[in-house]
Amino acid sequence: MTTAAVKPLADEVRALARERGAVILAHNYQVPEVQDVADYVGDSLGLSREAAATDARVIVFCGVHFMAETAAILLPDKTVLIPDLDAGCSLAASITAEQLREWKAEHPGAVVVSYVNTSAEVKAETDYCCTSGNAKAVIEAIPQDREILFCPDMFLGMWLERVTGRKLRIWMGECHVHAGIRPADIERWTSATPDAELLVHPECGCASQCMAFGNGRTHILSTEGMVRFAQSSPKERFLVATETGILHRLHKEVPGKRFEAVSERAICKYMKLITLEKLRDSLRDWKHVVAVEPAIAERARGAIERMVAIA
Ligand code: SF4
Repeated sequence: MTTAAVKPLADEVRALARERGAVILAHNYQVPEVQDVADYVGDSLGLSREAAATDARVIVFCGVHFMAETAAILLPDKTVLIPDLDAGCSLAASITAEQLREWKAEHPGAVVVSYVNTSAEVKAETDYCCTSGNAKAVIEAIPQDREILFCPDMFLGMWLERVTGRKLRIWMGECHVHAGIRPADIERWTSATPDAELLVHPECGCASQCMAFGNGRTHILSTEGMVRFAQSSPKERFLVATETGILHRLHKEVPGKRFEAVSERAICKYMKLITLEKLRDSLRDWKHVVAVEPAIAERARGAIERMVAIA
């Protein structure tokens, strides 16, 4: 959108949010104009924490459906809106509650750790949720002698095995965006830019490959971790391996440094379904309300609260 077109729409969104007593939470992967109008921009963990802490009566979730569902589970007395109901997630769709129940039956007594990118029904079958920001700490909080089923992201699971030294049973799911960032993308960039630090999200198809380790300038980080790392690093140039929406936040919060996407194709079509117009319509027309069946929400809440509590 042009700056001239964004300004009146952004003003309308802010006015409606005030009128409605709503807080706007936006994921790092949202389009720039949605990030800019939000009260808070962050990754899944940061957004969950922000949702849990807000006094606002209404939360408009500019992200994908499981994120809005997570807020609805944590805050049953608040209204949670998502501007487009079709904003799904290929990773969350890679395991169903029925599949998880069958897997658990094959491993009685195992602890289930689910990445937050799962449906409410899967969370209801889960002991601990985690995000890429706290997945390592969650695994380390589980006693050594307990078997762990980790779902649904195989690349994050393989990375966790390496950094914790624990053997996990891993579900073979993947995010099509992150899985599409291949070792060849990384190799091409790192050889062409010896002065750049490489920031890789653990969901990426390259993160669990040996070539991403043992190299002093490769850092496996959540998106929140990427922002913090770039802010504190003395380096000036960074290659970023995750969904390209994070570049807007990096440029904004770490001004003066250079950020480049390892793959320009790393775009999540679900995240990009949310537009400023749809956000305005959501606030104006009170749509789309995200609600979770109380019995499912009750069972899912414990796993999410454990995720929010573990740093
Ligand atoms: S980038 Fe991948 S994991 Fe994130 S919302 Fe899109 S499909 Fe899901």
